Amino acid sequence: MTDKDKGKRFPLSLSSLSEKPPRSGLRSELHRNLSPARIATPQTATQNASQHVKRPTAPGRPQEAVRPLVPAQPGRSSSLVSDAVRKAMTARVAKQGVKDAKVLAAMEAVPRHLFMEPALASQAYIDASLPIGYHQTISQPYIVARMIEVMRDNGNGGVLNRVLEIGTGCGYQAAVLALVAKEVYSIERIKGLHELAKSNLRPMRVANIRLHYGDGMLGLPQAAPFDGIILAAAGLEVPQALLEQMAIGGRLVAPVGDRRQVLQLIERVGKFDWKSSTLEDCHFVPLRPGTIA
Ligand code: SAH
Repeated sequence: MTDKDKGKRFPLSLSSLSEKPPRSGLRSELHRNLSPARIATPQTATQNASQHVKRPTAPGRPQEAVRPLVPAQPGRSSSLVSDAVRKAMTARVAKQGVKDAKVLAAMEAVPRHLFMEPALASQAYIDASLPIGYHQTISQPYIVARMIEVMRDNGNGGVLNRVLEIGTGCGYQAAVLALVAKEVYSIERIKGLHELAKSNLRPMRVANIRLHYGDGMLGLPQAAPFDGIILAAAGLEVPQALLEQMAIGGRLVAPVGDRRQVLQLIERVGKFDWKSSTLEDCHFVPLRPGTIA
C-alpha cells in the first residue's frame, strides 16, 4: 500500500462511499425470484464433504432477528433471487451442522448472488465455491458459516466487538461478519478484488466494515486487538503477527496446510499463551505474501 493509497482510501468506511446517506439498508425485505441452475463447478475454499459428519439439527428458520442487507438501488437484484432460495441455502447449511442461529440468520440476510458476476449469479446459492476472478473464489456457504460459528463460540455469548478477516475477495464473508460483529476489518492483497469488494458492498450501505488493501499476513496492528480473526486463505502456518493481534480470550479460525488442509482454531488464553485445536478438513485458496497491484 502506498502512502497515497493510505491517505485516500484506507481505512475505508463503506458508508463513506454511499452517494446517499445510510438509511434503511438493513431494513426492507428482498422480493426476488430465481431458480438456481445446478451446475457443477470446480471446488475451492470448500469443506471436505466426505469428512463431514452430518448432525440431525435442521432448524427450518433461524430464530435470531437479523435484518436483510438490501442494496440501495435494487437494479439486477430485484428480479434475480427470492428469499426462498436463500432460505433453502441456510436450511442446508444448518443441516450440514451449523447450529448458531445468529450465524444462520446472517447467512439468510446477505444477498450472496450480488457478490458474483451476473453470469454466475444463478449459481450463487449452490453448495460450492465459485470463481470471482484473479484465480480466487467466493467460499462455499457452509464453510463461511462454520468459521463464523466457531469464532462466535467464545464464552462471551458470541459478542464480538472487533473482528479481522484476511482475504476479502468479493466481500461476501465480510458482509456476513458485519451482521454478527460490531466492527469488521478486512484485508485483501489483490487490488482488483479489493476494488470489487468495495463496489459490491457500497450499495448495501454496511457502515461497520473497513476494507484495507495490503498483505493480511501482517495483520492490522493499528486496529488490534481483535476478538476474532478469520483467514479465508490457507497458509502452512498461521502468521505470528496475527497471533499477536488477538485479544486475550479472542479466537482465530484458519485453514492450515497445503494440499491437505485442516480448519484450525487458535484461542489466546493469556498474554503469552495460545491454545490450538484442529476441527475438520477443508480446501481454500493459498495465503500468499505481499500485494498485487
Ligand atoms: N472472503 C472471501 C473469500 C476470498 S478467497 C469470500 O467471502 O468468499 C481468499 C482471498 O484471500 C483471495 O481473494 C486472496 O487474494 C486473498 N489472500 C490471499 N493471501 C492474502 C494475504 N496475505 N492478505 C490478504 N488477502 C490474501
